[in-house]
Amino acid sequence: MSKPVLIIGGGPAGLAAAHSFATLGKQCVIVEKEDRLGGAPILSGYAKLVPTGEWAKDAIGGMVKRVEDASSVKVITGTKVTNFDGAPGDFTAKLSNGDTLEAEAVIVCSGFTHFDSVNKPEWGFGTYEDVVTTTQVEQMISSGQGVRCPSDGRKPHRVAILLCVGSRDRQIGREWCSKICCTVSSNIAMEIREELPDCHVYIYYMDIRTFGLYETKYYWKSQEEFKVKYIKARIAEVTSDGEKLIVKGEDTLVKRPITIPFDMVVHAIGMDPNVDNPEISDTFGIDLETHGFIDVANRYGSMGATSRPGVYVAGSATGPETIDDSIAQGHATAMAVLSGAQDLKTA
Ligand SMILES: Cc1cc2nc3c(=O)[nH]c(=O)nc-3n(C[C@H](O)[C@H](O)[C@H](O)COP(=O)(O)OP(=O)(O)OC[C@H]3O[C@@H](n4cnc5c(N)ncnc54)[C@H](O)[C@@H]3O)c2cc1C
Ligand code: SF4
Repeated sequence: MSKPVLIIGGGPAGLAAAHSFATLGKQCVIVEKEDRLGGAPILSGYAKLVPTGEWAKDAIGGMVKRVEDASSVKVITGTKVTNFDGAPGDFTAKLSNGDTLEAEAVIVCSGFTHFDSVNKPEWGFGTYEDVVTTTQVEQMISSGQGVRCPSDGRKPHRVAILLCVGSRDRQIGREWCSKICCTVSSNIAMEIREELPDCHVYIYYMDIRTFGLYETKYYWKSQEEFKVKYIKARIAEVTSDGEKLIVKGEDTLVKRPITIPFDMVVHAIGMDPNVDNPEISDTFGIDLETHGFIDVANRYGSMGATSRPGVYVAGSATGPETIDDSIAQGHATAMAVLSGAQDLKTA
């Protein structure tokens, strides 16, 4: 009997790969370092997802259940691979729980790490309680608590969302665009306006990248139906006058300095390479690309190929990705693994 495929990480990409294998009756094992499956949307408590508007706990929770119910999928949580050896068709992985696994191939679906806003101290996170991140606002909404100022629990009357926090910022070594945060921020702005109709929401941006069809559903809808205001600006700092947060910068369209008071400031945080990537690169013997994401060695010939034959990668481990693209990559890479195994048999 052929060996199972090892999947590292049980987020949307890993869950999709596992589902593909299960559908075809192929054995696979998910090794997930956290104590449950679901990846960022579940572990970080996202609220309603773009573009479907489905709650993350339902949409991704459904993917988790489907995989947990599949008899051909083994799930090992709270565990990492510590050692990895062998060749395509015949790999051996040692796990941090002491087990050893044999595998035919590996798909690394280890995802990304949210940018830590303390690395952008001039924008007030970590100094002022009411400067929060998009993930925190997602959690306020998904927990049912609603959007409130953490300092005293009051409903905010004025909210500023600052885009590109930890993205497109050479000064802090993060040149990439995180792809989804413009759309997520427009969505959050509409959710705030829906919950708190008296609250004014401003989005401060360099460029708006609500890419593809999201332009209509998020950028225009948020302005025309929800009266969210967009200001093209370069933000210098977020301070406090003791009562309100003060956002200072330059309105880059009219080229005038701006100093505006807010109750709450939201950082639209970006997607960093997984902090584990140096360790993953070392353990699995695969290359990282220049920013620290896992390098895709062959973009056209074989889905998810890395620099090491038999080791594949899918989802946001390769760079900022949306959930639906991560899922598509998970499914497609499972297919590439199966066709790679077929190539081995016929070689
Ligand atoms: C604030 C915010 C909101 C977002 N909202 C949306 C949205 O509404 N719609 C959308 O399309 N996209 C959204 N995204 C993007 C979305 O989070 C990603 O597209 C998605 O999580 C990628 O899935 P993934 O499986 O590749 O990675 P992840 O979700 O990061 O999953 C990776 C999994 O691997 C595990 N792992 C990591 N390292 C190891 C290791 N060494 N060993 C074992 N396991 C490991 C992790 O614990 C995790 O479970 C948002 C992103 C941000 C920052
Ligand atoms: S998607 Fe928007 S907020 Fe996110 S990095 Fe790109 S331009 Fe900035």
